[in-house]
Amino acid sequence: MPSNRAKGQKLDSATNGAASASQNGTVPTDLADAGVCPKCFDTGMEIVPGKGARPCSCRKQKAHSNHLEKARVPKRYANCHFNTYNSQNQSQREAFRYASNLAMEFPATEQGLLLMGTVGVGKTHLAVSILKGLTERGFSCLFCEFGALLKQIQDSYNANTKTSELAVLAPVLNADVLVLDELGASKPTDWVRDTMAHIINSRYNDKRLTIFTTNYLDERRSERDETLEDRIGVRLRSRLFEMCKTVTIAGDDYRRKLGSAALSRKQ
Ligand code: ADP
Repeated sequence: MPSNRAKGQKLDSATNGAASASQNGTVPTDLADAGVCPKCFDTGMEIVPGKGARPCSCRKQKAHSNHLEKARVPKRYANCHFNTYNSQNQSQREAFRYASNLAMEFPATEQGLLLMGTVGVGKTHLAVSILKGLTERGFSCLFCEFGALLKQIQDSYNANTKTSELAVLAPVLNADVLVLDELGASKPTDWVRDTMAHIINSRYNDKRLTIFTTNYLDERRSERDETLEDRIGVRLRSRLFEMCKTVTIAGDDYRRKLGSAALSRKQ
């Protein structure tokens, strides 16, 4: 194992390297290609000529992206922020207001959000924007697509002990703020309902904030339509009324708008 002195020497030579690089304004290309920070050479300390050393800004960026990775926000939502949300109607303006207020007011508020609406109206966009805002403020956040989570729990089930891996469930139960995306999308078997109830009730009992999105509405729009209550059961729907402010978002599928904009640019 290297001695502290040896480690110190390594740091010294790296910071000296950073100092001379920042003094002469050059960064060896092989290091830059390897993703090494050009300001501090990954030592965490940046040398400011004539002034001394200070913590490098890359550490803050890394800490932030580590938090986002930990929150497991899918890459396809990388561009979802409050400032990239364009409200298309009154219900979207209201949804934006509720979402941004929550991102600012938490933890002073205990009530989560249930974002309801047909496909592509921006429910996940707003839920991810809240998570990003709260991640920046240092809260532990987690994004879960409900179907994928149920599959992970199922896959970790051990028939001998009749339990699922705590490693899968613990982060979901313990995150300060959890987004459960696409509630009701999985076929509502007894096991699915029991598992949903376990997660939702545990978070309710521990007073942890949860944000849900769902494509199912409370009103039946046609005979064949299923409501959220049909999908998750009357008890859980009632629990969600207690835990969350229900916000219904109306509008067209934004993906179609994006698609036709891309198409008209090509023409
Ligand atoms: P939903 O969860 O309601 O099905 P998403 O949030 O996944 O819809 O939105 C689908 C895509 O459209 C995403 O790429 C999202 O960023 C984009 N989008 C939806 N609504 C808006 C909006 N009002 N402003 C900007 N982008 C939007």
